[in-house]
Amino acid sequence: MPYFADLILPLPLENRFTYSLSQEEAEFIQPGMRLAVQFGKSRIYTGIVAEIHQNPPTIYEAKPIHQILDKKPLLTKEQLAFWKWIASYYLCAEGDVMRAALPGAFLLESESIVKLSKDTEIENEVLTDDEYLVVEALQRQSSMKIQEVEQLLDRKKVLPVINNLVAKNLVALNQEIYEQFKPKQVRYIKLNSIYEAEVEMHQLLDDLSRAPKQREIVLSYFSISAHSKKPLKVKELLNASGASNTVLKSLIDKKIFEEYYEETDRVVFSGEINQHEIILNKIQQKAFQELKDNFEERQVCLLHGVTSSGKTEIYIRLIEEAINKGKQALYLLPEIALTTQLIKRLQNYFGDKVLVYHSKYSVNERVEIYKKVLDNSEKGKIVIGARSCIFLPFQDLGLIVVDEEHESTFKQFDPAPRYHARDAAVVLANMFEANIVLGSATPSIESYFNAQHNKYSLVELNRRYGNVLMPEVEVVDIKTAHRKKKMTGHFSERLVEEIKESLTEEEQVILFQNRRGFSPILECNTCGHSPQCPNCDVSLTYHSHNNQLRCHYCGYHIAMQLQCMACGSNEVTTKGFGTEQVETELKALFPKSKIARMDQDTTRGKHAYEKIIQAFENHETDILIGTQMLTKGLDFRKVSLVGIMNADNLLNFPDFRAHERSFQLMLQVAGRSGRTKKRGKVLIQTYNPHHQIIQQVSTGDYLAMYKEQLEDRYQYQYPPYFRLIRLTLKCKDYSKTNEAADWLARALENVFDRYVLGPEFPPVARIRNEYYKNILIKIPQKRSLGKTKNMVHRILKSFNAIGAYRSVRVVVNVDPQ
Ligand code: ADP
Ligand code: ZN
Ligand code: ZN
Repeated sequence: MPYFADLILPLPLENRFTYSLSQEEAEFIQPGMRLAVQFGKSRIYTGIVAEIHQNPPTIYEAKPIHQILDKKPLLTKEQLAFWKWIASYYLCAEGDVMRAALPGAFLLESESIVKLSKDTEIENEVLTDDEYLVVEALQRQSSMKIQEVEQLLDRKKVLPVINNLVAKNLVALNQEIYEQFKPKQVRYIKLNSIYEAEVEMHQLLDDLSRAPKQREIVLSYFSISAHSKKPLKVKELLNASGASNTVLKSLIDKKIFEEYYEETDRVVFSGEINQHEIILNKIQQKAFQELKDNFEERQVCLLHGVTSSGKTEIYIRLIEEAINKGKQALYLLPEIALTTQLIKRLQNYFGDKVLVYHSKYSVNERVEIYKKVLDNSEKGKIVIGARSCIFLPFQDLGLIVVDEEHESTFKQFDPAPRYHARDAAVVLANMFEANIVLGSATPSIESYFNAQHNKYSLVELNRRYGNVLMPEVEVVDIKTAHRKKKMTGHFSERLVEEIKESLTEEEQVILFQNRRGFSPILECNTCGHSPQCPNCDVSLTYHSHNNQLRCHYCGYHIAMQLQCMACGSNEVTTKGFGTEQVETELKALFPKSKIARMDQDTTRGKHAYEKIIQAFENHETDILIGTQMLTKGLDFRKVSLVGIMNADNLLNFPDFRAHERSFQLMLQVAGRSGRTKKRGKVLIQTYNPHHQIIQQVSTGDYLAMYKEQLEDRYQYQYPPYFRLIRLTLKCKDYSKTNEAADWLARALENVFDRYVLGPEFPPVARIRNEYYKNILIKIPQKRSLGKTKNMVHRILKSFNAIGAYRSVRVVVNVDPQ
C-alpha cells in the first residue's frame, strides 16, 4: 500500500496538496513537520504535513517529496487545528495562515544555483563576453546564485545568458534549498586544563615573562575565573585585559588557551528581578476572586475596569497562578511598540520567564522565541506581544490575557488571513481549555454584549487604584469661543488657561489631536482647487517639516506649492489641522516650555517611541502632543491635564463604529490624566458640546453609551445583532470594476436577498491607480454562519471562473472593523 502526505503550502491554494511517501518516509514523518516539495514547474517550497494517509489523490498523480526538513514536528496538533479554523472562519487559504503564522526563516526558499556541467570541454571561442565571464567565474567558485551572476555582469536580466549557457550544455541549473536561520554563535575561551595545576601555572607565567602582553591576558583570566565560574566570552577577556585579538591568537596557537563556540540567546533580558510582592487592595482582591470563581463556569471573562483601576496587577496575579501550575501564559496587546512600560513591569516581576514577541525583531530572534515556546522552556513561560503571538506553538497554555480588548488593531487588515486576534484567542483558549480574560476600561460593544448574554462572565472595577478620583471633564464649545474671539489658532482661552496652570504647578500636559482624514490640505482661495494625488482619489496633505505635499495612501509627494496649480493664484492656504500645526501654535503660545510630538512621523526609528515616552516620563518634556498612539495604556505620573483639540473629527467619521470608537478614544486619553493623588482635568474642545457621546464621555458613563449604541445597531442591522462580511473588488479598469461588482452583487442577492448592500465605492475609491468597490453581506443571528460562508465561497468560485473578470481581485473580510 502506498503512503501519502497532505501538505499545507505557503500559497493561497484552496486545498492541501498531496505527495507520495515511501514506507520508510511514512514511518518517520509526523504531522507538523516540514517537507521540501516541488510545486509547479520547478520551484521548491516548504510545506507542512497536515495528515498522513493511504488514499491516492484522484485528480492528479502524487509526486514524491524532495526532502524532509525536520526531525520532529515544528507545529503542534493544536496549531494545525487552529490554522484550519482561521482559514474556514475568515474565508482564506491555510497557506495564507501559514505565511502569517511562521517566522519567515522556517519557510525555506528555493534559489537557483548555477554550476558548471560535468565533463564538458570549454571552447572559449564560441562564447560571448558575458558567457565567458560567467564560465570563468564558475571555474573559480564552483557554484553561483543568480543574484551573484547579476552582480558579476552588473545587470538585472541575466537569465538569457544563463539559458544560452545551459543550451550549450556548459552549465547546469540546480535548485538548492538553504536554511535561513542561523543561531548566533558566541566565542568563548578557556585555559588549557594542564595549567590548572599550580606548578604548571607558575611555570607558564615564568615562560611568559618576556611576553608581557600575553602574560597580562593570562593574569586577567585568572583574576576573572577566581570569582566567577561562568563560561568566559573572548570579548570579556579582551575587555578586561585590554589586549588585542592578535595577542590572544598567539596564545591560542601555542595551545595555552582554547577557544570554543556556543549558541546564545539573542533575546536576553538583562535586568534584575525586583520581585516585589503585589498586594491587591480590597477591590482588586474581590475582582481577582470573582475572576477565578467565574473561570470555574466559563472560560472567557470580561474585566471591565476604569482606567488606572489596577487591572495589570490583577493580570500579573492570574499569570502567576497559571505558571505556578506549570502552564504557559499569553499576554496579548494591541501594539507592542508602545508598551515598554508594561514589559518592564512584567519583567520586574517574572524576570526572564517573559518573552517579548515583536514584529520589529529580526527573523532569527523570532525563530528563537518560537523554539522556546515549542520546547515549553522555563524561559518563555510567559509570552507578551501583539496579535501574531496567537500563532506560537504553545504546548500547555493555561491563560490568555487580551489587554485593551476593544482596540481595532487586533484585527489584521491586510494581507489575508484577516483575523481578529481577540476572537481567535477565544478559540485558541478553548482548544487548550485555558482561561481567557478580556480587559478594558471601554469594552467593545460586542464583548460587553457577550457578557450581558452570558457568553462571557463579567467582572467590574469601578474605582481607580488608591482611590484617585476620575478626572474632571470640561467641555469647551469652540463655536461660541470663535464667535466671541476667544480662540488663538486652535486653542480656546480655557485650554490656554489650564495649560498655564499646570505648567506653573510643574505638572505635565497631554494634547490629543486625531489627524485621521483631517491633516492640513492645501486649498486655493480663488478657485477652490486643492492638489490631488495622481494615483489615488485623495487630496495631498501638507507636511511642514520637509515642506512637502504627500499622499497618505501611496506616498506620492511633491514640493509645497506657493501658487495654485489650476488658476495660478498666489492665495493658497492650508485647511484642517494636524499634530504638526498644534505643535507650531503651541510653541508660539508657550515659548519657554519643552514640547514633544508623538505621531507616525516622529516615531519611525526602532527606539523612537521609547525615547519620547522616556523623556516625558523623566519630565524632560512638559507638553506631549500626539495622535491615538497616546491612548494606549501609558501610565504617566505627573500629567494633570489632557486636552482634546477637536472631538468632532472623531464623531463625524463615516462608520457605524465611529461613535463607539470616539467614546473609547476620548475616555482612554482622558484616563492618562491624574493617575496619582491629585484629581486630573480633561478639556474637550468641540463644535457639538451637546452631542450624546461628549456627554457620556464627560460623565464616564459607559453603560449609557452601550445602551444607546446597541439600539442603533439593532435598528440599522449591525453587529452584534448582525455579522458582516465585506467583499472588496479591486481593479485598474474602472468599468470592469463596476461590471464585476454588479455581477457579484446580483449573484449574492439571489441567495441573501435584502441582506446584501452595495456595490458602493468607499470614501477613497481609487488607491495606487486601482479602483475599489465594496459589497456588504449582513448575516442575521438566526442564520447559520457556516452555511452562509459556504455559499459565499461557492459564489466567489463561479466569479473567479469568469474570464472577463480575471483582472478583478476580490478581498474577503469577515467581521470587518
Ligand atoms: P489599569 O491597567 O487598570 O489602567 P494599572 O494596572 O496600570 O491600571 O494601575 C494603575 C497604577 O496603580 C499603576 O501605577 C500601578 O502600579 C498602581 N497599582 C495598581 N494596583 C496596585 C497594587 N495592588 N499595589 C501597588 N500599586 C498598584
Ligand atoms: Zn486656484
Ligand atoms: Zn496616492
